[in-house]
Amino acid sequence: MSDCLFCKIVAGEIPAKIIYEDEWMTVFDDISPQAPTHFLVIPKKHISSVNELTSADEELIGKLVVRIGRLTQELGLKDGYRIVINTGKDGQQTVQHLHLHVLGGRSLQWPPG
Ligand code: 5GP
Ligand code: ZN
Repeated sequence: MSDCLFCKIVAGEIPAKIIYEDEWMTVFDDISPQAPTHFLVIPKKHISSVNELTSADEELIGKLVVRIGRLTQELGLKDGYRIVINTGKDGQQTVQHLHLHVLGGRSLQWPPG
């Protein structure tokens, strides 16, 4: 999508601190980190939110989550972390390109508010 911020990051049209990339996904640091480690995992393909996923995306979503398990180990998040997918208005989703937040490096509160 030409007017999508995260599609522009995937295309290299907007700079980001990319920490991993392959044919399926781009992973980059959040511009406004809410924890010592806060990065975003996005599919290269434009998908607006979880609500637009289809069964054809099951392999893709699996790859995103498996990669998070590897990256967090490589980054030394041995005490844990949180994966968040904000969805829609009530979920406070502000960028309409599916993204998984990964937050770690401190003890996170629950409930999230
Ligand atoms: P949401 O609120 O949609 O769940 O998360 C969007 C996230 O994208 C926010 O945490 C926000 O800080 C991050 N973000 C917004 N614009 C940019 C940007 O231009 N670059 C990067 N790296 N992150 C961004
Ligand atoms: Zn997009």
